[in-house]
Amino acid sequence: MDPLGAGLCANCQHGRRLRNPRGSVFQRCERARNDKNYLAYPPLPVRVCPGYEEQASAESEDPSPGGGS
Ligand code: SF4
Repeated sequence: MDPLGAGLCANCQHGRRLRNPRGSVFQRCERARNDKNYLAYPPLPVRVCPGYEEQASAESEDPSPGGGS
């Protein structure tokens, strides 16, 4: 889901969704910590990004290897 309209950042492994004490939600790029080519808070939605890497979705993995009792 992408309720913020963040585009690629919404399911990028470098994206972090932060909420401030007022309840506002922000999309942060963790690549910006070490790479000046990235903005910590890029204008959204991000449609094209060379640093995009899809999040590994552990929830879609088989939950019980060898199990099934
Ligand atoms: S690497 Fe690109 S797509 Fe990923 S969080 Fe940063 S700006 Fe968004």
